[in-house]
Amino acid sequence: METVTAKPAQAHYSFFQGVERSFDLAAKYTRFESGILEQIKACNSVYQMKFPVRIGDKIEVIEAYRVQHSHHKLPCKGGIRYSMDVNQDEVMALASLMTYKCAIVNVPFGGAKGGIKINPKQYTAFELEKITRRYASELVKKNFIGPGIDVPAPDYGTGAREMSWIVDTYASLKPGEVDAQACVTGKPVTQGGVRGRTEATGLGVYYGIKEVCDVAEDMKKIGLTTGIEGKRVIIQGLGNVGYHAAKYFFDNGAIIVGLAEHEGGLYNEKGLDIYKVVEHRKSTGHIQNFPGAKNVPTSADVLEMPCDILIPAALENVINGSNAARIQAKIIGEAANGPLTPEADEILNQKGVIVVPDMYLNAGGVTVSYFEWLKNLSHVRFGRMDKRFSENQNTFLLKSVEHLTGKSVGDTERSLILHGPDEVDLVYSGLEDTMIGSYHEIREALLSIGSGVNMRTAAFTVAINKVGVAYEELGIFP
Ligand code: GLU
Repeated sequence: METVTAKPAQAHYSFFQGVERSFDLAAKYTRFESGILEQIKACNSVYQMKFPVRIGDKIEVIEAYRVQHSHHKLPCKGGIRYSMDVNQDEVMALASLMTYKCAIVNVPFGGAKGGIKINPKQYTAFELEKITRRYASELVKKNFIGPGIDVPAPDYGTGAREMSWIVDTYASLKPGEVDAQACVTGKPVTQGGVRGRTEATGLGVYYGIKEVCDVAEDMKKIGLTTGIEGKRVIIQGLGNVGYHAAKYFFDNGAIIVGLAEHEGGLYNEKGLDIYKVVEHRKSTGHIQNFPGAKNVPTSADVLEMPCDILIPAALENVINGSNAARIQAKIIGEAANGPLTPEADEILNQKGVIVVPDMYLNAGGVTVSYFEWLKNLSHVRFGRMDKRFSENQNTFLLKSVEHLTGKSVGDTERSLILHGPDEVDLVYSGLEDTMIGSYHEIREALLSIGSGVNMRTAAFTVAINKVGVAYEELGIFP
């Protein structure tokens, strides 16, 4: 069997090198020859562009990227981020994580990622629209976007608004392309988006951690009871992912003891009401001085406070060699991409902390993007064909049971039983099923590899096996 030796964890890994290192650690548990492994790891196409955009009375040269990590399945898929930290290494790392992420949740896409090196807060909506449309047309020019080629989505600093500019630019450059809407996901529902996409990543984080906490055997090992209820949770980052994750934990009985944002954090061992904290932040402009809670000076400090579950939902590298030893959580759920450096991973593994890896835990976004893409290609809303049929059938069944028993159910039960699936019900159901099924695939791999291996390595082996088999089936050209 081919063995690939991973370098020991040491400081100064680039983000992409960190992903490669995790890959190498896992590759030795797979059966593929080194050539296939090298091909899986490599970024297939890297497109760096620079284009001019007139901002006010000046011309700005904008630096942007689209990286297609793997063409083993098409289209490629992955978000576009707007941030001053965007660089080629980061986009390559994020694109490769997308390949493994899609494989883990059985979404039939290759991985990709895009980025524009701007601080979106420094531009007006009009300027952002100009930058986004120009970026989209650069992608069209080079055939780097299309329903069967490469399908972007939101990521850090972008959302439904940017996706709607992209679909409109694409459609206007490709007149008559009947599937044009499927060139990008995460669109507003009015522009071909799917219901449930906005909250999908945060909801997927909740479903994933819930499944982890429901396995009694694993919880016993780390001294926790089963279930989400009563678990003390800290969430770093209240963007789209962090906010929705916090909301589902809160709604389902977890105690949100800590919350962190750029400006600092809050801690209250009795629990924070996420809805009230968000309202408070909106009205005061910052998270601090929330009634009853203790102010924590920086976002990084909040990570080290006592809790059972820690959810870093902001950016990469926030848990690293210098703070990992002080983390008190027993479970870390990587809602962000790459929040732990390889050094942190090693330290936390030694401490026996369960680290639920990003490429599984935050895959809810791309899973629901897949549903949106399917909806766009089929040109029909989910539930349109079967909702009424289910309701009629449920009515008939309930009436028969009531007739036969001579009893009738209450109003709440009646509406629950009769309800036929709406689009959002089907999306949530597909997402929940995916998160549960994929978690158990990773857990099985973890158990079969044996001790000393963490969940990230197990998740990588699952991904490598799937991508490797796809390469074998494709055949390699002579
Ligand atoms: N940006 C998200 C991620 O990192 C979603 C990607 C997608 O939906 O294509 O997974």
